[in-house]
Amino acid sequence: MNKLTGRTVAVRAVRQGFWLAGALAGGSLVWILRSLVSPGTLILGVGAVMLFAALVGELIVAFTAIRSTRRVIPPPNAQPADGRIERLVITGATGEPNRRDPRFSAFRALRPVENLPPPARLPSGSMPPLLGRITLVSLFVGRDQHPWSDDEIARAHAALFRAGEWIEREAIRWKAPVNLTLADTYFVVDDDEATNDVEMTFEPEGESVGPLEAHAVTKALIDTSRAASKLGFRDAVDWMEQIRARVDADALVWLLHPRRAGRSLAIPLDLTELAGVSLAVCYARESSFPEPLIRSPFTDPVTVVHELLHLFGASDKYGVPLRSYPPRSVSPRDIMRLNELSLSRLRIDRQTAWEIGWEIDDALPRDR
Ligand SMILES: [Zn+2]
Repeated sequence: MNKLTGRTVAVRAVRQGFWLAGALAGGSLVWILRSLVSPGTLILGVGAVMLFAALVGELIVAFTAIRSTRRVIPPPNAQPADGRIERLVITGATGEPNRRDPRFSAFRALRPVENLPPPARLPSGSMPPLLGRITLVSLFVGRDQHPWSDDEIARAHAALFRAGEWIEREAIRWKAPVNLTLADTYFVVDDDEATNDVEMTFEPEGESVGPLEAHAVTKALIDTSRAASKLGFRDAVDWMEQIRARVDADALVWLLHPRRAGRSLAIPLDLTELAGVSLAVCYARESSFPEPLIRSPFTDPVTVVHELLHLFGASDKYGVPLRSYPPRSVSPRDIMRLNELSLSRLRIDRQTAWEIGWEIDDALPRDR
């Protein structure tokens, strides 16, 4: 039998409370009105009061259940965050060390490894909570006849370290057991077959609308599959399944870094059009319209964190007034609101923490 969770206990208390309140209100009514109305009317009235109170209770329970459908059970052996980001070996991956940062290597091939678990199906359905051991895997895609240089890739990794450390610091504040690692092997391809035709649409952004490239999700998935076949895999699903079997982690975060300017986006599991292929596209510069890079690439750790959190269920908080959220649940400094340019000015507020599964056992930070 399942253990009672804190929430189940709370639901029972709410239900019992409202039934009890209904009975008390009904009883009091009988006492007050006993000499004024006929017994038949009295019984009907008392029944109506009790039912109404119970109905209010059930509605509250049902409403909070909608809000609590996320699973927030940490994976087994999840350790407290320590603020340090380590590298994680992709078992049996061979590569060429990066000339600027030889701790990381560009993927060449997968060699057979004994006792490897068979490639498992990619997860599907709802987004996992941001808990347990999470590994970031990067794919650098050269565009417009400009490959990523070792130097640029090393700088991108420095940004990933900063992004990971920031997430773990916030996890410490929220007492969430999360440990991020960076895969020691990254993937690089050049893609000049990608179509550069751009069709724009306007998407709702809170209470206004903003420009967005049409079919951005489909295009990113097609680009990923083309990259996977250039790397020697059948397609994106085959690639991710094979790497998944060689990484000892609870969840993988796939980061696509096109060497272009554009609007970064996340493709969470519930939005993907390709079975289980979920990833974050982090452009080398942010711009509203996709376009070739004019300056050198700049992987912004704020973008990496923001898009990564989308993959674990966080929603955008910009474009809507703060008063539309419950009191003290979203501040101007929330990472999903993007009011600030520097990670040091940003944080994870209560609403976002709840969305990514961090509000466990009322472990709330004190400095809110
Ligand atoms: Zn966003």
